[in-house]
Amino acid sequence: MKTTFLTILTGCFLSIQANTPQSDRPIITTWQNDKQAAICYTFDDACPNQFTTAIPILDRYKAPATFFVAEVFNPDWNVLKQVCGNGHEVASHTLTHCNLNDSVAANEYRESNQLIFSKTGEKVHTLAYPYCNAPSDSITEKYYIGARICSGQIEKATPDNFMRISSIVVGSESSLTTGEELTKLFDKTLQQKGCCILLIHEIDNGPGYSPLSSEALEQSLEYTRKNPAFWITTFKDYICYAKERDNAKIKEIRRSRKEISFTVNDNLPNDIYKTPVTVSYPLPSNWSEATVTCEGKEIEAEIVDHKILINVVPDTGIVTIKKK
Ligand SMILES: [Zn+2]
Repeated sequence: MKTTFLTILTGCFLSIQANTPQSDRPIITTWQNDKQAAICYTFDDACPNQFTTAIPILDRYKAPATFFVAEVFNPDWNVLKQVCGNGHEVASHTLTHCNLNDSVAANEYRESNQLIFSKTGEKVHTLAYPYCNAPSDSITEKYYIGARICSGQIEKATPDNFMRISSIVVGSESSLTTGEELTKLFDKTLQQKGCCILLIHEIDNGPGYSPLSSEALEQSLEYTRKNPAFWITTFKDYICYAKERDNAKIKEIRRSRKEISFTVNDNLPNDIYKTPVTVSYPLPSNWSEATVTCEGKEIEAEIVDHKILINVVPDTGIVTIKKK
């Protein structure tokens, strides 16, 4: 009896919440495409099986990842250049993979960034500290928009300190070795609406540190494919999204019976911060279908519960929603 009563109560509570009118103001959703949590697969040290085994799996799941490379590991630059073109991020793990201190950090950062740019043609914006040892933030923030430590926590939607973003070590040297353990961690991330940054080294039986089985990697990706609440993204896009979301202002500039126009602007440098943010715009109740253009070009949008979800790169002009 007790159980039934509780169930009824919970049911009432939910339906009351659902009927509560929500704010009519447009917002930027916590995560892209209104997903409920973010997952970053990050790979360190250019371990051999990352290239032969992990990348084909990631590509099969269309899952962008971040590869933190240091020159000392002799990474395969040809593969890394292709990887960049395929939506992944190649970023800095310093030049020599040394224990950083304030006297060597700037040199390690500059030379590593130059090397990666010369080999891949892509500018570097993020860093993973070797051995998770961070020097003074004031040095690191001159070179990077965010840097990764490994304090083992799920990160918040906005990290307290972008120069010390937490990650979680996985594989044989950790307590996270199976697909099931990884998916439990993802569920926890969902409860917190946070970001889970996995720190992966070797895959399967390669010679690198703390190997994770390709089976576990694949099971975790399969879980995110079945559960559409997760946003799989690169470390850089996670950082850009968080800063843009917190910084950008949506401004309605025109409204008629058939058309709404608005802009999304932020004060972040546009050459780095160009990750699309998802605007959730409430529609008038008699608009069941709409088309969206940005500076005249049609863009994709989705209507959910009388709100239209639109992906917009901040500072790219006027977005117009037209009633169909
Ligand atoms: Zn390393």
